[in-house]
Amino acid sequence: MDEFRRQELARTSERMESATPSEILQWAMETYGPKLTMATAFGAEGCALIAMIAGIRDRTGLTLDIFNLDTGYQFPQTLALRERIQKQYGLEVRLVSNAETVPEMEARFGGPIYNRDSNECCRLRKVVPLNDAVRGFEAWITAIRRDQTPERAAQPIIGMDAKFDLVKINPLANWSKAQVWAYIRENNVPTNPLHDQGFPSIGCWPCTRPVKEGDDDRAGRWAGTDKRECGLHLSPAGQVTRVAS
Ligand code: SF4
Repeated sequence: MDEFRRQELARTSERMESATPSEILQWAMETYGPKLTMATAFGAEGCALIAMIAGIRDRTGLTLDIFNLDTGYQFPQTLALRERIQKQYGLEVRLVSNAETVPEMEARFGGPIYNRDSNECCRLRKVVPLNDAVRGFEAWITAIRRDQTPERAAQPIIGMDAKFDLVKINPLANWSKAQVWAYIRENNVPTNPLHDQGFPSIGCWPCTRPVKEGDDDRAGRWAGTDKRECGLHLSPAGQVTRVAS
């Protein structure tokens, strides 16, 4: 990407700091059209974004590609939610997975590796298929919020994702958890029933535990380790990447 384009993106990102997530989504859908995609794990934030996208589609006719990284270790409740969301909003969420299935991978390694090398497991089950899934796209939408982890705190609304060589758009970057849930309640957005069972953040079943009242929302992800991210939202150097302004 040339410097002029980078500067332009940085200015747009600053302008979008005061826009609503729906306005940011519509801008992205108008700007990138079929070259825009979105990854969702059907967390509360992702479900809210999908509801907003359906609203934009109904108003404008615009739509976009949406996919779910099907690691092979997702909770059955998450896969059921995909069906419910697709039906409710009339949007397809395609499943993206590694060509090597979980049984094949576990046979190759002599068992699961999520408990002994979670970084390699995340690389194989998430990062590799995501690379394939975004090939040919120019921009991707994520549902991350800045207050979720230190790694996410510096994420702009719109930035360059060096890891996947894509423009990365984070419509909920400056929203709080309370704002997300207020939107969900006001708009009757379906969510994962596990949220009501102590799982504020839901990933793969082997690496997600319920949290206690007052714990950090992501305390149940890779509990007992330093790991906070699966690698999708880290640059190759392990840092988030901002477009220089
Ligand atoms: S979250 Fe756990 S099970 Fe899922 S890909 Fe990463 S290490 Fe594997």
